[in-house]
Amino acid sequence: MILVLLGPPGAGKGTQAQLLQAKFGIAKLSTGDMLREEVTSCSPLGKEVKDIMAKGQLVPDKTIIDILFAHIHTPDCARGFILDGFPRTVKQAEALDVALAAEGKAIDHVIELTVDDAKLIERIGGRFSCAKCGAGYHDTFKPTKHAGKCDACDSTQFIRREDDKAETVAKRLDAYHKQTAPLLPYYQQKGLLRPVDGMADIQAVAAQIEKVVGTDKKLAKNS
Ligand code: AMP
Repeated sequence: MILVLLGPPGAGKGTQAQLLQAKFGIAKLSTGDMLREEVTSCSPLGKEVKDIMAKGQLVPDKTIIDILFAHIHTPDCARGFILDGFPRTVKQAEALDVALAAEGKAIDHVIELTVDDAKLIERIGGRFSCAKCGAGYHDTFKPTKHAGKCDACDSTQFIRREDDKAETVAKRLDAYHKQTAPLLPYYQQKGLLRPVDGMADIQAVAAQIEKVVGTDKKLAKNS
C-alpha cells in the first residue's frame, strides 16, 4: 500500500501518518523529519538546507528527491509506505510516479487533509514533540496525559520546531498554496485524490482515512 498525505503545514499529516503506521504496520516517510535530522547532526546536507527551512521555503526538488528515493527502495518499504510531506511540487510528484512505475508500483491513494488557513496558525503555534521518541503533541488539542511526561516513552524532554514561529508559518503556507496546491488537480486527474475533513478531531480524521483505505479490497489484501 502506498499512501500520500497531502495538506498544508499544520493539517495533521504527521499525526495521521503515525496512526496509519501503527494501524497498517508499514513505513512512514517524513521528508521534514529526514531534513531536521540532517540539520541536527550538522551534516553537509543539513548545513545546506538549514536556512531554507528556517525561511519557510522548499528545498530544491533534486535534493529532496534524492533523499526520499534513498529510502523507498529499502526493505522496510517493500510492503508499502506512507508519505508525509512529499511530494510538494508537481516535479516531485512526476519523479515519484516514474520511480514507482519502474518497479511496477503506483500510489494507491492521495489523502488530502482539507483545513481552514486561519485555524492552522492556532494549531501550529501549540505543537511540540518528544525529544526522545518523536511522539507529537499539542498544548490544546493533544496534551500529554501526565504534565511534562511523554505518553509513549516517559521522557521529560520536549522540542518545538524552529519553523513553527508565526512569521515562518505564513511563508510555509504561502509556499503550500503556490507550489504544492497544484498537486491537487494533478492527482484528481489520476483519480487518486481522496479529500478528508482535516478540521475534525484526530480520531475522527483517522477514522475517515481508514474508511478510504479499508474499503479498498485490493489494499486490504496487500496491507
Ligand atoms: P514539514 O515537516 O513536512 O513541514 O517540512 C519542514 C520543511 O522541510 C519544509 O518547510 C521545507 O523547507 C522542507 N521540506 C520537507 N519536505 C519537502 C519537500 N518534499 N520538498 C521541499 N522541501 C521540503
